[in-house]
Amino acid sequence: MPYNPQNLYLLKAMIEKAKIILKETFGYDSFRGHQEEIISSLLNSKDALVLMPTGGGKSLCYQIPGILLDGTAIVISPLIALMKDQVDALLQLGVNSAYLNSNLTAAQSRIVIKLLKEKELDLLYVSPERFNTEHFQELIQGIKVSMFAIDEAHCVSQWGHDFRPDYLELNTIKENYPNIPLIALTATADSITRKDMVERLSLNDAKVYISSFDRSNIHYRVLLKKSPKDQVLKFIKNEHDGESGIIYCISRKKVESTAEWLCSKGINALPYHARLNREVRDDHQQRFLREDGVVMVATIAFGMGIDKPDVRFVAHLDMPKNMESYYQETGRAGRDGLPSNAWMAYSLGDIVILRSMVDSSEADESFKRVLRNKLNAIVGFCETVECRRKVILEYFDEHHEGDCQNCDTCLVPIETVEGTELAKKVLSCVYRTDQIFGSGHIIDVLRGEKTEKVNKHGHEQLNLFGVGKELQSLEWLSVIRQMVTAGVLKVDIENYGSLKFTELSIKILKENKAIRFRKDPVPQKSQKKAKANSKFFGLNFSSHQLILFDTLKKTRMRLALKKKIAPYMILHDKSLKDMVIKQPSTLSEMSDVYGMGQRKLKQFGPTFLTVINESMDL
Ligand code: ADP
Ligand code: ZN
Repeated sequence: MPYNPQNLYLLKAMIEKAKIILKETFGYDSFRGHQEEIISSLLNSKDALVLMPTGGGKSLCYQIPGILLDGTAIVISPLIALMKDQVDALLQLGVNSAYLNSNLTAAQSRIVIKLLKEKELDLLYVSPERFNTEHFQELIQGIKVSMFAIDEAHCVSQWGHDFRPDYLELNTIKENYPNIPLIALTATADSITRKDMVERLSLNDAKVYISSFDRSNIHYRVLLKKSPKDQVLKFIKNEHDGESGIIYCISRKKVESTAEWLCSKGINALPYHARLNREVRDDHQQRFLREDGVVMVATIAFGMGIDKPDVRFVAHLDMPKNMESYYQETGRAGRDGLPSNAWMAYSLGDIVILRSMVDSSEADESFKRVLRNKLNAIVGFCETVECRRKVILEYFDEHHEGDCQNCDTCLVPIETVEGTELAKKVLSCVYRTDQIFGSGHIIDVLRGEKTEKVNKHGHEQLNLFGVGKELQSLEWLSVIRQMVTAGVLKVDIENYGSLKFTELSIKILKENKAIRFRKDPVPQKSQKKAKANSKFFGLNFSSHQLILFDTLKKTRMRLALKKKIAPYMILHDKSLKDMVIKQPSTLSEMSDVYGMGQRKLKQFGPTFLTVINESMDL
């Protein structure tokens, strides 16, 4: 649609219609961030590249134009297992939509194709594999396509771990359909990936919309591993009892043992990793999506495209390999905007393992250097004394003032201590014991522990035996970890993790170069208590309101089971919370509740009204 006064007038009218759809179909009062501009672009036949964090509201950007524009919007999404959920959720809103992928039987596919040809579909979701087939290409030649949307567009870039070769072929879209608007969307923000997307999808003329990547509702917390399983159990019990969450572990074995252990402690945990057979994996994914309060213990194989809105926490039991993964994985928490936790426990061991994985990989030196830098960035994030939100955002080139008051370092400031003398003790000990021992033995020598190993090597005779009694073992471990992080010592993984000198070691020993250490914070009891009450979204609900919220949730579960859909497709937690606050007593009042579109009002409004009215009588 080229610009002329009449079209401008038409465009304005279309945007007004978009606002009506936002309210009547989706139940929302206003657009967020760049949504309105992006929708206007598409309505005006202009391409768009959208970089928006998870939970930012990307789907509306193509769903509303898909509904409004004449023809069918083709949405390419890499996640076959989740397409059904996306379409089910749209059908609940009364949006004419369907999907085509290898999960459908031939007969089901025929029905979808028939609907498509009869112009009955506003949105059609397809997998990239299906999109690239000749058959599908012929099919869309014969219909009116209103627009193309490429979801998870970063899959086109070889830089992320989500790379999908099928995405490369999508570069033909712009060539074949130069006049049909194309929107590419992703929650991955780094500049290499962004450049790749523009090049590979031929999006040179697209307007780029970048939102702030701050997820202000996510509370960031990083702690040191002591007894990680117990730590995560305590975290769940104290802060997320009965809520949904994801726990990431580095290996399949650890996934299985952690899930099993959590189950034995009464947590509703399920394992997920690439080696489980497909039926089990799909079943676990479905249960995570459909049931309230499932904890998924998973490798990174789990999570892309999971748009469950009420994941209340993401916990990392091992350090992720870079900031991109950390941001993406933690981003799966709190898509509904309600307070959520990103929790991580890490150790020196994690850093050592990740470093050795890079060192021993087949990649060439320059690639390894990139990987090492990325790893250093996340180690820096873990060890920072600054606001974590600031560190994350600055990594993605976004400025943040710091002091977010919603991360551990802001709430419990980290003390630093002058550490040159401590570092010298460690270095002397490493040197005197010939650089062949790991941190455990070095600490024993410093603390004067008479172990078998000390005895065997005669280390009791050393001058520095027992010179480090002023710190506990764990505190020494922290000092050594920070020395390794700062490059003052290195770990030789091939030789039993022995500690070795680097160039910097000499500088500290000989030139007295100063070094400071962060003092690892000791968890405070009072803090735990405060958090335990934040379970109900930081709201001070009265006991009556809590009971009502619980009853509404049960009602939602009943409706979901009856309709065989996920509870959040009936209504989000945020809508139930709004209901508790507003306590509507008529259908018209009910229509003001967040996310209550017309169709949902008609289908579920009366049931929830009855529950609310009955609760008044209590
Ligand atoms: P993304 O795909 O960017 O991760 P979604 O499209 O799933 O995010 O949106 C996240 C949540 O925000 C969803 O629950 C969605 O319904 C809601 N949402 C989107 N846009 C709005 C809006 N303008 N007002 C209120 N809620 C919105
Ligand atoms: Zn902060």
